[in-house]
Amino acid sequence: MQLTDRINRIQISPTAAVIAAADQLKAKGVDIADFGPGEPDFPTPDHIKQAAVKAINENKTKYTPTPGVMPLRDAICAWHKRELHSSYETKECVTNVGGKHSIFNVMSVLAQTGDEVIIPAPYWVSYPDIVKYTGATPVYVETLAEDGFAVRASAVEKAITSKTKLIILDSPSNPTGGVTAPDDCEKLLALCKKHNIWLMGDECYSHFTYAPHKPFSVASLPGAKSNVIIIGSMSKTFAMTGWRLGYTLAPAEIITATIKLQSQSTSNPTSIAQYAAIAAMTGPMDSVPVMLAEYAKRRRRIVDGLNAIPGITCGDPGGAFYAFPNVSARLGSGPDALAKDGAELATLLLEKAHVALVAGEAFGAPGYLRLSYATSIERIDEGLRRIGRFFSRAEAAA
Ligand code: PLP
Repeated sequence: MQLTDRINRIQISPTAAVIAAADQLKAKGVDIADFGPGEPDFPTPDHIKQAAVKAINENKTKYTPTPGVMPLRDAICAWHKRELHSSYETKECVTNVGGKHSIFNVMSVLAQTGDEVIIPAPYWVSYPDIVKYTGATPVYVETLAEDGFAVRASAVEKAITSKTKLIILDSPSNPTGGVTAPDDCEKLLALCKKHNIWLMGDECYSHFTYAPHKPFSVASLPGAKSNVIIIGSMSKTFAMTGWRLGYTLAPAEIITATIKLQSQSTSNPTSIAQYAAIAAMTGPMDSVPVMLAEYAKRRRRIVDGLNAIPGITCGDPGGAFYAFPNVSARLGSGPDALAKDGAELATLLLEKAHVALVAGEAFGAPGYLRLSYATSIERIDEGLRRIGRFFSRAEAAA
């Protein structure tokens, strides 16, 4: 079958593939210690769910304006101003079908063949493929474990060319949990202004930062608005992954172009999810520190547990809910090797130890594994036991 070049340029999300493989084993009755999915294991807060029920009962179940209902766009701008110190107006806000859709829209209206998009690596799996789909070329800039995977403006600067259209800043980062400090954000913004480039801040994990880090938006920097695009999502902050509600904050011209695209593709995000999102943006935020405190406990447990296993080294992630250990000491063809590469190790861990996680290759980081700790302490302990046993059994066999 003759498919388009643009669809042939991309692959299915590798994280979705791991989840599918783990689900297949679960369906056969296998107990999996599951560190695969990047989604909160907490329920959506009650007041948000009730707002959706109310919307259904009030028959708010029809088309809405393409960019979302006005009260939601207003509420997002007000929330972002209150929480992250920006200054957007309603015409600078559009709601989308999840943050992934927001990114897809923004790339579609800004990037095309001949353009380059700078992506710090390790990167979230979808960035390169979304960029490739537009015809633009991803350009990777390495971030380092010993630097907490922070994005350094000095490294980004070296990758800028006359073709650079946009720089992606994912902080806190999926998969590393790396947090980029405000002063490096400031330097990145200065680079963007100097070279006439967009800075796209992906804030999906903005509220999951561990001390000393704090929630921070590049949109709060003086003069940011002319070069900054903000991607936000209800998915993680409010445990609303299935509701599919994200948003974009950007200069009105970009928002208008996005609305045009959306009017010919998805139309509005689900009306019911929009009313739930209004409750999220205007209601109490007490579920957020509760989740964060729990993630902090799990982070300690999983990072310490991983470091206790010979051949694994893992730094403290500054935010999000992923541990990103280096297992390269146990890969390759040497006497201590468990597998030739991370992808093979992840497959063996799933099949032999019944632990689901994602190999670093998916994020442009061979030698690493990503473990989501959005799962209970009990399951983290069980998973660590299994990984430990797998590593030592293989050690004994070697
Ligand atoms: N950006 C990052 C860094 C993510 O990790 C994710 C989801 O995992 C998203 C964006 C998109 O989230 P959603 O489409 O659920 O809003």
